[in-house]
Amino acid sequence: SRILVTGANGFLGAHIVKEALDSGYIVRGTVRSSEKADMLKKVFPSEKFETAIVPDLIKSDYTEALKGVTAVIHSASPFTLSVNDPKKDMLDPAVEGTLSVLRATQAAGIKRVVLTSSIGAVPSQPELLSADVTYGPDDWLPFTYEEASSGQLPGFIVYIASKKFAELAAWDFVKEYPELKLTTINPTVVYGPVIHPISSLKSLNTSNAIIYSLINGSKDLPPDAVSSFCDVVSTAKVHIKALQSESVVGKRILFSKGKATIYQMLNIIVKARPELKDRLPLIPEADPMEGKTISRFDSTLAMDTLGVKGLNLEETVLQTVDSLLELERKL
Ligand code: NDP
Repeated sequence: SRILVTGANGFLGAHIVKEALDSGYIVRGTVRSSEKADMLKKVFPSEKFETAIVPDLIKSDYTEALKGVTAVIHSASPFTLSVNDPKKDMLDPAVEGTLSVLRATQAAGIKRVVLTSSIGAVPSQPELLSADVTYGPDDWLPFTYEEASSGQLPGFIVYIASKKFAELAAWDFVKEYPELKLTTINPTVVYGPVIHPISSLKSLNTSNAIIYSLINGSKDLPPDAVSSFCDVVSTAKVHIKALQSESVVGKRILFSKGKATIYQMLNIIVKARPELKDRLPLIPEADPMEGKTISRFDSTLAMDTLGVKGLNLEETVLQTVDSLLELERKL
């Protein structure tokens, strides 16, 4: 059968396309322009891969894009950390874009949707990601829409709020149209090999840019943020397995492999790729984040129900680093 994947030329979107093709689907990927379609067709030369041009997530007509499609994976959404106009740049494409896709999907009589949300939609405690708790599917980010659109919050918070309000809009939509079966995927920070078309490492996707900032020779030790992680191939697999599983209809699938600090990542790189030592920032003697709490996320549905265990931190970091070094050579 044929599925539609929105944002098919994105970092995660391209991996979702790949997993779907590998699982035997005919895949139609949406991109914003014919140039992007042509570049993506070079990545997926398969005759089972098609493209559809959807120039505007909110205003475009999806009739052609949805012809012959039996399920939709909506993954397109802005992910940047510098936001000029929170509503126009982030909240509208996320929320209204999701609603446009869902309305068109429902109108076309399609019954199955998987939405790429984010773990960012989940932390419900005032301490957010440093609360000493295990967050689960009942937790929701507390920021209000007014706060998120006020222009007073940092870009990262505006981004995770955009994911929350997009996800909430989707759950509200399927309350109204219960024939539409929705599952959301809520991954933590996703790292991994780049297979989508990029023209320069300056336009690297936001999450992989964190790892590139460790090895690009700038030697600025990035902020001492503690975060959690997952790998992109497994995250894409969670999407496809979710699409195929009745038991996760109506569920939010959180996906985290646990803590990943900058110190841990630097140590993994210096041990396994010692030739990069001169490009790395000075590694402190102890992890500045040692002893600090990082929230946990209940990933039972992804790991046990869907059986996607995910790669460990070492595999994830090294696959990412190797892919970025290869891009450096090629671009
Ligand atoms: P990318 O920036 O690599 O991909 C984003 C995709 O969305 C691109 O195809 C992009 O198209 C499209 N897109 C963005 N804004 C718009 C818009 N206004 N109109 C139409 N299309 C748009 O990011 P990721 O691959 O990282 O993100 C993919 C999804 O995964 C997003 O929903 C993101 O929120 C989610 N996610 C990502 C995580 C991560 O750590 N990477 C973690 C959790 C969730 P174009 O190339 O034309 O700009």
